[in-house]
Amino acid sequence: MAGFFKKSLSGVKVPHNKNTMESATVDMPIPEQVTIPMLQHMGAPCEPLVKTGDHVKVGQLVGSSTQFMSAPIHASVSGDVTAIDEYINPAGIRTKCLVIKTDGLQEVDESIAPPIVNTREEFIEAIKNSGLVGLGGAGFPTAIKLNPKNPEKVDTLVINCAECEPYITADNRECMENAPAILNGIKTVMKYLNLKKPYIGIEDNKPKAIAHIKSQIIAGDPIEVVSLKSKYPQGAEKVLIYETTGRVVEEGMLPADAGVIVMNVSSVAFVDSYMKTGMPLIKKRLTVDGSAVKEPKNVRVAIGTTFEDVLNFCGGFKTEPKKVIMGGPMMGISVYTLKTPVIKNNNAILAFDEKDAVTPNETACIRCGSCVRACPFSLMPLEIERALKLEDGAKLEKLKVNLCMACGCCAFACPAHRDLVTTNNLAKKFLRNYSSKQAK
Ligand code: SF4
Ligand code: SF4
Repeated sequence: MAGFFKKSLSGVKVPHNKNTMESATVDMPIPEQVTIPMLQHMGAPCEPLVKTGDHVKVGQLVGSSTQFMSAPIHASVSGDVTAIDEYINPAGIRTKCLVIKTDGLQEVDESIAPPIVNTREEFIEAIKNSGLVGLGGAGFPTAIKLNPKNPEKVDTLVINCAECEPYITADNRECMENAPAILNGIKTVMKYLNLKKPYIGIEDNKPKAIAHIKSQIIAGDPIEVVSLKSKYPQGAEKVLIYETTGRVVEEGMLPADAGVIVMNVSSVAFVDSYMKTGMPLIKKRLTVDGSAVKEPKNVRVAIGTTFEDVLNFCGGFKTEPKKVIMGGPMMGISVYTLKTPVIKNNNAILAFDEKDAVTPNETACIRCGSCVRACPFSLMPLEIERALKLEDGAKLEKLKVNLCMACGCCAFACPAHRDLVTTNNLAKKFLRNYSSKQAK
């Protein structure tokens, strides 16, 4: 039945290629210039709070929005704002961006101080002010996630450290290098949100991370580390909740309706750091890898550093790149320029040579059903493709294409190499228009 969440995860077995698993994070020096987009999260973009010619300091609030679904943006460097430009992100969305010429001094803004927090409301306000968004890639504003409509129903915190996308090892390094902050962050969230049980879900292809986190848990702490089978997409929210807690987030439900809040492991570690220092989210750890990269690494960079600068820090290219991706190979997005800046939810830069970037030719569907078997939600991409061609909105509704999370399992499993994710995205867009026309 389409849309029914399978209790045993389907998904696909992807090559891990976690080449940088043992690469300790290296701090990249501050570049000469950063570009800070006003949209680095899911939701409404921010408006710049500074103008060309202004001097800014590290941690200074430089962008905010009055919209509910948004997250403030802070300067990652000290220096002068040389321009407020238009920026077109890899998804084609136009927003404003600040260009800041760094002065190399990294002077910290005078307003930076640990937040004073005594209540749940003050905690959520502090997290909002920190600019934190889901660091695993989703970019959902964390303050909204921590403040569900039904807080009395929520008793469980699930920390997402599945990191199921190939190549990416940034969260693995968070576990290896920052375990005390992860555990403290969990305790802080539990305390202010009055949660009872925390789980940390880590795929079993990271045995060192599992052992290390376990070794840091003090006897008697309720934190449970769950070793997850390495299978993509273990890190998808609904899948992770089931695999760690056994709870099913049914269609139309939010995780909070199943009593759960999910946070990325780097996000929860950031909570600890912010509560202690008050320094908002201005840096990002990310994995740089792929067949075209000379020296794959895990690096921590100032937000707004361009891909070009990050790649140069990693030795440049060993061969001409054919494709450069922001994020992982399954859900990441190709960038059209190396001037693309690193944003908050950017956990990887992958650059591939011609051989690895080749897109196989599509052939006709042979109705093998592999796409349906691979889909964690039992969607039927082959039927969705057909309904879209026929412009049959009612059928697309019935096929529940709106549930598609663009995980790419169906396309990965398809022997005919059909671009099913793009088709699903187009079908979702078609259905949105169809539904709004129906509503009128
Ligand atoms: S996996 Fe590909 S070939 Fe097989 S049914 Fe699905 S779309 Fe058709
Ligand atoms: S991309 Fe959508 S249809 Fe394809 S497997 Fe993922 S959720 Fe299912």
